[in-house]
Amino acid sequence: MRTPIMAGNWKMNKTNEEACELASAVKEASGAVTGTEIVLCPPATALSTVVGCVEGSNIEVGAQNMYWEDSGAFTGEISADMIKSTGAQWVILGHSERRGRFGVIEEGFTEELQKVFGDTDASVNTKLKKALAAGLKPIACCGELLSEREAGNTDEVVAGQVKAMFEGLGDCSSAGFVIAYEPVWAIGTGEVCDGDEADRVCGVIRSVVAEVAGEEAAQAIRILYGGSVKPDNVEGLMAKENIDGGLVGGASMKADSFAALIDAAAASA
Ligand code: PEP
Repeated sequence: MRTPIMAGNWKMNKTNEEACELASAVKEASGAVTGTEIVLCPPATALSTVVGCVEGSNIEVGAQNMYWEDSGAFTGEISADMIKSTGAQWVILGHSERRGRFGVIEEGFTEELQKVFGDTDASVNTKLKKALAAGLKPIACCGELLSEREAGNTDEVVAGQVKAMFEGLGDCSSAGFVIAYEPVWAIGTGEVCDGDEADRVCGVIRSVVAEVAGEEAAQAIRILYGGSVKPDNVEGLMAKENIDGGLVGGASMKADSFAALIDAAAASA
């Protein structure tokens, strides 16, 4: 039996004051809920603040990205140890917004500009190795573009991303490694992936993990679905065999809607 996880990705939103207000409201609403793990991922500037605001509750905190080196001339980057020193225990890696895999090119942006953060399968793998070695719990993201789905390449794209995550990783069955399946076309669009289809792709991911890391790892690893998860669609998703929780953007930034998602995850346990 895998413990569900409900993780909120606040992206580039919330000043320290706003982050503490939201974290405190989530703590008030859901801080004592058991049966699911709860993770808040504020911007790096608010990690310490949020860790302080949720102290004494069941809520844990994560970063949205990290670099693989320990220190040095890497302007603007943060290391695994820096994240840990805030009290945070988790890190999201390879989110499609960092891989430059956007569903839509924002007005005024060229495709090149959107790729500016530059994560690749190889860099995500390097970051994963560092995060695991440092004792951080990674949430590693994968997912297909709409064009890839329409071309019938979903399974191939996602399997390729997951295989690349595990390259040279060694034994990770007990390391708290979490994978998030996030179809890019469903992120922030309001268009959720059909539950059966999301479950099917998460099943493909689990079989890839079995192939590259063994059956024990495949059964232990939690696979989250992400992409327009909302209170009105969460129950159906959480009921699926291969979906062990959610990685949520929009609906995690209001305490009442995130509380509903947390309750659904806990009820699915
Ligand atoms: C995300 O940021 O990973 C995400 C899934 O966003 P949303 O829930 O808003 O689609």
